[in-house]
Amino acid sequence: MDCNRQLVLTPEQLEEPCLAVQAGMMGELDQAVSEDLDHGALTMDISQAYKSDHLAQELHSKLGSADAPLGWEWSEGQLRFQGCLYIPNQEILHLQVIHNFHNHPSTGHFREARTSDLIHWNFHWPGLRQMVKDYVASCTTCARAKSPRHKPYGKLKQLPIPSRPWSSISMDFIEQLPASKGFSAILIVVN
Ligand SMILES: [Zn+2]
Repeated sequence: MDCNRQLVLTPEQLEEPCLAVQAGMMGELDQAVSEDLDHGALTMDISQAYKSDHLAQELHSKLGSADAPLGWEWSEGQLRFQGCLYIPNQEILHLQVIHNFHNHPSTGHFREARTSDLIHWNFHWPGLRQMVKDYVASCTTCARAKSPRHKPYGKLKQLPIPSRPWSSISMDFIEQLPASKGFSAILIVVN
């Protein structure tokens, strides 16, 4: 019997609607992951922080009026931008959200883009992606456990030894020093 002639997927299964269903299932899986995370205490802290957040207070007074900004809404004491919960401008809250998604056992230290996407589906604050990038870059667990994905760096090479004095020199300035007798820079010459 010729096993290579056995169909694995029929032409109908390979059509677009089937792929769309699979994509939808992926979305549900991601949703389940985010809902598993412990956000109870965090949500309380966020609601408290709204009281001292400039943007939240400004939007609170504007929403409902004629010049209300698009995409923002207050519902059940929470400020949302395009459905995502707005996190007030407090670094400790931002770090807590990133920590919950990046370090949580169910997510397991995803890389920058994946961590960023997971957070972005539920939360919003200006500079979110850059902060996630910095956080993941400084994560010690990732640094120990993940191998680098760039080409290996070149090896350091020693400069050739000059044949005589002053055949090779380098010069540089140290600038922006505090002024001393009117001077604020030093010229360095290395022979
Ligand atoms: Zn990590």
